[in-house]
Amino acid sequence: MSLQLVRGHDLRPPSREPRKRPAADAGFPSEGVTPLLSPELRLHRLAPRFPVSPETSEFYRRFWPGTTRADWNDWHWQFRHRIRTAEELARVFHLSEDERAAVTTHQGPLPVGITPYYASLMSRDDPREPLRRTHIMTGAESLRLPGEEDDPLGEDHDTVVPGLVHRYPDRVLFLTTGTCSTYCRYCTRARAVGNPGGEYQFSPKQWDQALAYLEQHTEVRDVLLSGGDPLSIADEKLDWLLTRLRAIPHIEFVRIGTKIPVVLPQRITKELVRMLKKHHPLWMSIHATHPRELTPEVTEAFARLADAGIPLGSQTVLLKGINDDITVMKSLMQGLLKRRVKPYYLYQCDPIRGSGHFRTSVDKGLEIIAGLRGHTTGYACPQFVIDAPGGGGKILMAPNAVVGRDGADLLLKNFEGGVYRYPDPDGTLGRTVATLAAE
Ligand code: SF4
Repeated sequence: MSLQLVRGHDLRPPSREPRKRPAADAGFPSEGVTPLLSPELRLHRLAPRFPVSPETSEFYRRFWPGTTRADWNDWHWQFRHRIRTAEELARVFHLSEDERAAVTTHQGPLPVGITPYYASLMSRDDPREPLRRTHIMTGAESLRLPGEEDDPLGEDHDTVVPGLVHRYPDRVLFLTTGTCSTYCRYCTRARAVGNPGGEYQFSPKQWDQALAYLEQHTEVRDVLLSGGDPLSIADEKLDWLLTRLRAIPHIEFVRIGTKIPVVLPQRITKELVRMLKKHHPLWMSIHATHPRELTPEVTEAFARLADAGIPLGSQTVLLKGINDDITVMKSLMQGLLKRRVKPYYLYQCDPIRGSGHFRTSVDKGLEIIAGLRGHTTGYACPQFVIDAPGGGGKILMAPNAVVGRDGADLLLKNFEGGVYRYPDPDGTLGRTVATLAAE
């Protein structure tokens, strides 16, 4: 797919100049008739808005009659109108029998949840369309294959106080909430999200326990806020949490892991960005799956975050039939980079229960990395990792470039398959390969 044409839009980087409001934008008084607005409010109103295409307007008018453009661009409206049930899905999508049966019989955590905005990107007719496959459950999700676990990464084992996972010596994973704006069918934390009445509860009381632990553990210098999705938390609560974390002297910086800029870009309001900016150094890892997600709305959300000085990285899960293709992956990675998001991790899909239909072989991931490395900008190449089942942490996977050794020379294969020599008289690398090859 051309990156230039997603939903008929030219994806040029957004202008950071204030946009002129169209005359037809009723409900927002024009500059000329609001002389008493405060300078701050005037700036707010002149700031870039989320673009809404004619196709999008047609979509929301059809499925949510009476919805205004202001409603559509209001993240609270989007959140409240998430598609949650088989009936709501059937209003928008032509469900396959498989999808309908899976949604109707589903019990437990990881319910269906899709923002109207994200639904507008999906095919209404084709159950094989990539974004739809990642969010509407099918019968395959109820199959449990060998090696699949509810908690494959052993996070529960490394949980030191509720919601705080301390696996690596100097950093922690802080699970802030069980809520997401949308629920991905391959979620590593399927056991913990979207189940507010269930086993996993995340509350300010728990946050206090986690904060007390962090205050005592001076070896922790890096906190990753995750969940669920931390950006589903109200600004004031998140501000409170970030303020408490930044007040701990040994915590050098905080990261937020989120999918919201991609599935609910309207959440990236000026107010949110202004609040986040107070807590630098603050980094953000954005979960992106497919180039179809890189719409003008998402481009605007990324730009707001990047303009606030928040370094943006991406995380992508390798998914069978969705993004396990070099062309698709290259388009995604280059599209992210173009929008100031550094492709960071490509994950081998974790073996959670019911993930067999999403998981590729590890060879496929290596093939994709080989198809990127040298064939596109180095910045566009993510690190391919397997999060080791059982809690071993991330293990870097890369195509083997070492061909062998010829005396003092190490023999290396480049991205085009050509073999090159590097003088390495004291090295041992390649000897084993050469020995094995000789046998
Ligand atoms: S947004 Fe993240 S935490 Fe939420 S369902 Fe998707 S993968 Fe899981």
